[in-house]
Amino acid sequence: MSKIILTGDRPTGRLHVGHYVGSLKERVALQNSGEFDKIFIMVADAQALTDNAEHPEKVKNNILQVAMDYLACGIDPAKSTIFIQSAIPQLPELTVYYMNLVTVARVQRNPTVKAEIKMREFEASIPVGFFCYPISQAADITAFRATTVPAGEDQAPMIEQCREIVTKFNSIYGETLVLPEIVLPSNSACLRLPGIDGKAKMSKSLGNCIYLSEDPEQIKTKVMSMFTDPNHLRVQDPGKVEGNPVFLYLDAFSTPEYFAEFLPEYAGMDELKAHYQRGGLGDVKVKKFLNNVIQAELAPIRERRKYWEGRLPEVLEILKEGTRVAEAAAASTMHDVRHAMQIDYFESLLA
Ligand code: ATP
Ligand code: MG
Repeated sequence: MSKIILTGDRPTGRLHVGHYVGSLKERVALQNSGEFDKIFIMVADAQALTDNAEHPEKVKNNILQVAMDYLACGIDPAKSTIFIQSAIPQLPELTVYYMNLVTVARVQRNPTVKAEIKMREFEASIPVGFFCYPISQAADITAFRATTVPAGEDQAPMIEQCREIVTKFNSIYGETLVLPEIVLPSNSACLRLPGIDGKAKMSKSLGNCIYLSEDPEQIKTKVMSMFTDPNHLRVQDPGKVEGNPVFLYLDAFSTPEYFAEFLPEYAGMDELKAHYQRGGLGDVKVKKFLNNVIQAELAPIRERRKYWEGRLPEVLEILKEGTRVAEAAAASTMHDVRHAMQIDYFESLLA
């Protein structure tokens, strides 16, 4: 069986460092590993519209931004197919049929959907499209026969729900769909990067992000104003590292090379944490180190992004060509699905 990746992001804003450590970095590594036969990367505009129906301009304005973030991070259009979700008609088509295989109660139990409904304060006014997005996500994954979905931890319940749909579909209609697996970042600090405000998740919708395209001064201001341990008032006070965003970010980004370059008086994270915990290490020093690390990590990405910002027609062409390739792949799966479901009437009624 071929090994195929499907992954993507909602064009609700430019991409941030949470996307980078949670999914983008892993995608680029998988892309360059040469282990995959096909890689599909989707700009999930239809999903973005499920909670932004009244703001199509917001989604539109972020299509090229997200595509440029991909290219800047090292997604290579010669190896990966970047495409636009709403331009693939087979995706809503599959969604309609999968909806018959899932109960309302099952979607209601999805913990990510629950958390997102609460965060968006939808309560009694949940758009049906938003409520059903895990089902449409199952269509996205299966349309490309994806075996592998590199994503952050918040996506685990989605992949679980997709696997249930695949199992149910195959048990009713015969072996047709491929069972996908999630690939989480190997560094546990990258599973769910918190916001700079200390909130549980850095998220475009919460406005607590450091964006990949941000300039060095803005990044520095954000890092220096980051939430830390509120009880660590004086340098000599003992501080807490658990749940402290500055240390969580360092766990996600720092490497022994960064210690050698920017903070050689410490051997590594363990020593830095121990000093903070026993007291005598100030927040400013730790934040300055974090700023150096993030700046070093983002500088080459910013450079590559500038290159693409000067070539927008080329970026659009990459999306157009990717969308053409993606549609052909989805059409082939749809053909098999129609046959399995016995709805390929014009081919089968008289056969
Ligand atoms: P929105 O607020 O519009 O939902 P988002 O910031 O949550 O945006 P998505 O486009 O929903 O971003 O997520 C894209 C991918 O990035 C998913 O695989 C998700 O798991 C991952 N991801 C998003 N935020 C984080 C984070 N803070 N830490 C780790 N991974 C993340
Ligand atoms: Mg999200």
